[in-house]
Amino acid sequence: MYLITRRQELSPSTFLWEVEAPDIAASGEPGQFVMVRLHEGAERIPLTLADFDAGAGTITLVVQALGRSTAEMRDHYHEGDSFADVVGPLGIPTEVAQVGHVVLVGGGLGVAPIFPQLRAFKQAGNRTTAIVGFRSADLAFWLDELREWADDVIVCTDDGSRGRQGLVTEALAELVERDRPDLVVAIGPMVMMRACADTTRASGVKTVVSLNTIMVDGTGMCGSCRVTVDGVTRFACVEGPDFDGHGVDFAELMARQQRFRTEEQAAAADYEHRCQVEQTLFVEGRRTYKKIREIEPTRVPMPVRDAAVRARTFDEVSLGYTLTEAMREAERCLQCARPTCIAGCPVSIDIPRFIRHLLVRDVDGALGVIHEANILPSVCGRVCPQESQCEAQCVIGRKLEPVAIGRLERFVGDHGTAGHPELAEPIGKRVAVVGSGPAGLACAADLARQGVEVTVFEALHVAGGVLRYGIPSFRLPREIIDREVAGLVELGVKFETDKVVGRTFTVADLMNERGFHSVFLGVGAGAPSFLGIPGENAGRVVSANEFLTRVNLMGGDRFPDIDTPVGIGTDVVVIGAGNTAMDCLRVAKRLGARVRCVYRRSRAEAPARAEELHHAEEEGVEFMFLHNPQEVLTDDTGHVRGLRVERMELGEPDEWGRRKPLGTGETLEIGCDTVIVALGTNPNPIVTRNTPGLALDSRGYVAADPTTQATSLPGVFAGGDIVTGGATVILAMGAGRRAAEAIMEYLRTGAARHVDTGSEAVCPRCRRPMEEGDDGICCADSLLAWKCEGCGKRSEGFAFPYGRCSACGGELDLVDPPAVDDQVRDAIRKAFEIELGGRDFYVAAAQHTTDDALRDTFERLAKMEGEHIATLVRRYHLPAPADADGNLHPGMLQAGGSREPDDPADLLGMALELERRAEEYFRGRIAGAAPAAAELYRELAAEEVEHIDLLISELTALRENRSGML
Ligand code: FAD
Repeated sequence: MYLITRRQELSPSTFLWEVEAPDIAASGEPGQFVMVRLHEGAERIPLTLADFDAGAGTITLVVQALGRSTAEMRDHYHEGDSFADVVGPLGIPTEVAQVGHVVLVGGGLGVAPIFPQLRAFKQAGNRTTAIVGFRSADLAFWLDELREWADDVIVCTDDGSRGRQGLVTEALAELVERDRPDLVVAIGPMVMMRACADTTRASGVKTVVSLNTIMVDGTGMCGSCRVTVDGVTRFACVEGPDFDGHGVDFAELMARQQRFRTEEQAAAADYEHRCQVEQTLFVEGRRTYKKIREIEPTRVPMPVRDAAVRARTFDEVSLGYTLTEAMREAERCLQCARPTCIAGCPVSIDIPRFIRHLLVRDVDGALGVIHEANILPSVCGRVCPQESQCEAQCVIGRKLEPVAIGRLERFVGDHGTAGHPELAEPIGKRVAVVGSGPAGLACAADLARQGVEVTVFEALHVAGGVLRYGIPSFRLPREIIDREVAGLVELGVKFETDKVVGRTFTVADLMNERGFHSVFLGVGAGAPSFLGIPGENAGRVVSANEFLTRVNLMGGDRFPDIDTPVGIGTDVVVIGAGNTAMDCLRVAKRLGARVRCVYRRSRAEAPARAEELHHAEEEGVEFMFLHNPQEVLTDDTGHVRGLRVERMELGEPDEWGRRKPLGTGETLEIGCDTVIVALGTNPNPIVTRNTPGLALDSRGYVAADPTTQATSLPGVFAGGDIVTGGATVILAMGAGRRAAEAIMEYLRTGAARHVDTGSEAVCPRCRRPMEEGDDGICCADSLLAWKCEGCGKRSEGFAFPYGRCSACGGELDLVDPPAVDDQVRDAIRKAFEIELGGRDFYVAAAQHTTDDALRDTFERLAKMEGEHIATLVRRYHLPAPADADGNLHPGMLQAGGSREPDDPADLLGMALELERRAEEYFRGRIAGAAPAAAELYRELAAEEVEHIDLLISELTALRENRSGML
């Protein structure tokens, strides 16, 4: 690194840097240059040595901020900062001899590089004249320094604000006439040097030009510095940068220089945009910083490997965003004033803040923000079900595709560099973490950061839990896990693999004999579930865990190069349709088998992430939905020959709105030679059975307080799948972090809140009691409804919202399916009437207005009314009302009395009036209605309030002559 010892502003765009570079300072000579690289990834900038001081060990560089790199240098490199690289001195020094009258011409930035040459020619006994040109007086610099060594200094400015008006070449032409020089040295922009050479050509005055701007590497290696001089190709890095200007083929050179023009212009524009964003978001702190209509409606697609190719390899399927793609997607974030996405993340990553850093290309800063809450961003960015968490809460998701937060998280995790972790002083306490899955890792990281000595005990020979042995490498490459685990080692966490707690030693041993003050159990739910059907113990019926472990952990796909065989045949049936089942299907496909999925419910109920199902289908996996396995069929030798299944159909929705699969009595046999059972998991009893006093729930999971993760044993905490049953990585991490917080309190006070051991296992997302056979999250793909306790707004989606109401920020609560009585029906009928009237009005107003922006607004409002009608139809299982005609009824436009529909403000005013009347109508009915109808009226009123808010903001924007929210 090269320390900047001084930075000076010479003019608003020209800056001087003095840099510590003793070797260059000792050997530098006039005319030579250096290559500067600001930081990793920056380009090499050729800069002429403006001065050098061997005694002080410093060199001087003068730079005019013109392009992206020099602007970055101006903005971010101050005294005390360092440049990553300074290479030099490069090039052949200017030949300095006593020749008589030497004229040095410098234009713009070239003024600085002529300085050491001027001094050298003067010291060599020449008469010197400096001709320097600037656009205007305020840009002029170093005139006094030049006068020290020049017998005459001629200053030219474009506007005549200093010295003479006009170009340096005009001054040079006069001088050639009046006081013929013996040598001219011209340094500056290419056009200026060319003009100088043309000016002196007829007189035959030798004119040297300095071509360092055409160099790239500065060492002569790349050949980009080639230039035709007197018909011969010369290389500026090796033989220059000074050449006889009369021989240089400037036309060729300038044509070649043009090739970067488009990119350089784009880079400069990009840099300027970034500076503006930085100013807006970081300096002014403006939120919300853009309009929804400025946002690309769809997210930047994730590049994926071709399905046919990837189905034959274990290479990663999703390839991740490039920087450009990540930036484009980041630009879709509104930077909301009241972001709701954070509450949708189980570990509360400050999503807008990390995206803010990304928007100014500060990937490391973005990683720092994520690391505050999540130590595994590369993992979570790949495997978290963001579509039902943070992204389900994204504000723009109400109108457009939500921001692809997960993909951005992955990008930051993969490309950011973590700074050195900040660690608290050791507090003299030791904690044992049992299990190195996401729960254990998250807990260990938080504790280590707070000065606790943490040891992770892991039963397997390698850390990572399900990430390592369950999730295949084409979804989560092994090196990503290695890197994230290495991050913990850097925090000081110790890992002891091959230690089975409950066998190698017990929890009591850890606390009593091994001196740990507290224990966290994050042992997962690694025991397999089976169906209990005949034939299930045949040879080629395996659990998902066994199959995946053989491949993912033991490398069985490379058998016999690797010792572990996988032992499946060529026709594989996987039972189940959760994430685990998808992994089995896709791994088996990659091993070359025909692969079918058998699932008793329909596709809509499959608990796997939509993306995983989609990828599996693309790769050629066959799906048999609504088929329930009844018997594994075997041949005489006991080998699997098929599966008997019963056709199923979906019954009526249960009290939760979920349609149960019902047997039809019709069975069929499907031929196969392998069955993989992927039906969720059970708690592994090794720890639980060997830890006396550890309370369990009715399904054998550890009973832990939902807030503190404290178990029934003092000092023992538990979290992740061993508490919730099979769930998700991020939920396990959230539990690990909650436990760490409670453990810190326990270590300080010796107390922890204890558990209500009577609680049943509930779905970690929707909090309903779990059904037998549910794969982790019971509501993974079912439609849920929730209601804001504040404004009463009701919403529906595929996820239980962790978050807050997107309209008012209030608390959300899961709601039961609605009961429909006569009053409710009346309310809905009236709502249909009002919504249809509203939609008619907006459709008509959109047709009527001549203002493009307003038309857009009305069209969107019409769509919102239509969506609300559709929601009511779906929610209450009612027939849709007859369609609206979209005609502008004259009466509607008269609704505003003296209002004039051609006036945009009046038109918006009418809309506002209609919405207000609707809101008043619904609110007025709440008091007299029975509870179910009152609830509905409240919701309907809340919906109208949302429209009113939008219209007020549009109207205000219109009055203030700026664009509104929509
Ligand atoms: P685990 O990850 O199970 O880790 C527990 C660790 O404890 C293991 O390493 C185990 O070896 C160790 N251990 C067990 N007993 C002992 C003992 N006695 N002594 C010492 N160590 C012990 N979730 C998602 O969010 N997205 C996905 O895409 C996804 N895909 C999945 C695919 C598969 C195949 C599976 C099985 C699960 C998937 N999940 C997914 C779920 C997710 O991986 C788990 O919810 C999560 O890993 C649970 O974390 P954990 O720390 O509680 O337990």
